Amino acid sequence: MKLAQRVQSLTPSSTLAITAKAKALKAEGHDVIGLGAGEPDFNTPEYILEAAKRAMDEGKTKYTPSGGVPELKNAIVAKMKRDLDLEYTNEQVIVTTGAKHALFTLFQVLLDEGDEVIVPAPYWVSYPEQIKLAEGKPVFVQAQEENRFKITPEQLKRAITPKTKAVIINSPSNPTGMMYSREELEAIGEVCVENDLLIVSDEIYEKLIYSQEAHISMAQLSEQLFDQTIIINGVSKSHSMTGWRIGYAIGNKEVIKAMTNMASHSTSNPTSVAQYAALAAYTSSEEEVIKMREAFKERLEALYGWMTEIPGVECVKPSGAFYLFPNVKEAAEICGFNNVDDWVKTLLEKEKVALVPGSGFGSPENVRLSYATSLEQLKEAASRIHKFVKEHQ
Ligand code: PLP
Repeated sequence: MKLAQRVQSLTPSSTLAITAKAKALKAEGHDVIGLGAGEPDFNTPEYILEAAKRAMDEGKTKYTPSGGVPELKNAIVAKMKRDLDLEYTNEQVIVTTGAKHALFTLFQVLLDEGDEVIVPAPYWVSYPEQIKLAEGKPVFVQAQEENRFKITPEQLKRAITPKTKAVIINSPSNPTGMMYSREELEAIGEVCVENDLLIVSDEIYEKLIYSQEAHISMAQLSEQLFDQTIIINGVSKSHSMTGWRIGYAIGNKEVIKAMTNMASHSTSNPTSVAQYAALAAYTSSEEEVIKMREAFKERLEALYGWMTEIPGVECVKPSGAFYLFPNVKEAAEICGFNNVDDWVKTLLEKEKVALVPGSGFGSPENVRLSYATSLEQLKEAASRIHKFVKEHQ
């Protein structure tokens, strides 16, 4: 079967590829530790499960408005006021089937063939593919490890062409865990205003911050930036609700209206019951969210310590999300590999530890370790990696 051109150039998600390989080894009976997961390992909090059950019992199981039920939109608007002191109206919100589909739909309504979107690298694997699916062109700007994997305003300026439509800012970032400060965002924002660029602000890890830094959204910085920013967020990471598939986009009314039209012909609506679950998430105390964050913080501190003891492993300490993104070029060389991808493959085969190679994120000297797993598993994984490198020293 000859498939459409647009899927022929699609790269399968590297995160899912390694997870599949780890699963296959597990099925063969091997004791595999998977650090590839992009989802919290906690159960969805009980009060959210209860809300979903209640919604089912009350018959809230039918089609909803394409952009989401008004109660949830109201709750999102209230959350934006509460968390970021930003004033939105319901017309500026679309509830989507996960943040991933918010981004997908956004690029679909925004891009014409050849339109460029600036993607700071290392990047989340789906950005470039989604841009390409919308016939746009991802333009990568390589953030330097020395600059904590953050792009500078000068780098952004250099990447802008007459075709540039938007820039993605993902803070805290997947895969690096880095965050932009207010000053850094102001400087980048200035370039965006000068060049009339839309800012796609992916804030999905906003609740998972372990340093003293505050989460800042580009939309908070000025009236102009408020108008030029579309915020993407959702409950997947903050409330351990990855499988419920609820995210949202909030910003410019015309953009949101176009996205809602598009959703009406693709998903119809996000799952009704899941919307009521998300409503409970956004209208209840954040006690459970804080507990999960505390657990992640403990794991980060421990894993960071274990990993940086390994010869040839250099790691910028992340501020948020639940990933470590060490540079392992030297560790791979110690083991006789001049390519980190091969090192990762052999590590999985020999030591049964699954990491995600940084090449999929546009950073081939690094690997991504997710600490969304127990401390015991993390300790064991770090000790196997240490042993693997030591054996070759
Ligand atoms: N944005 C980033 C940076 C992510 O890491 C992810 C999930 O891995 C998403 C968006 C999508 O999240 P959701 O589960 O809401 O689709």
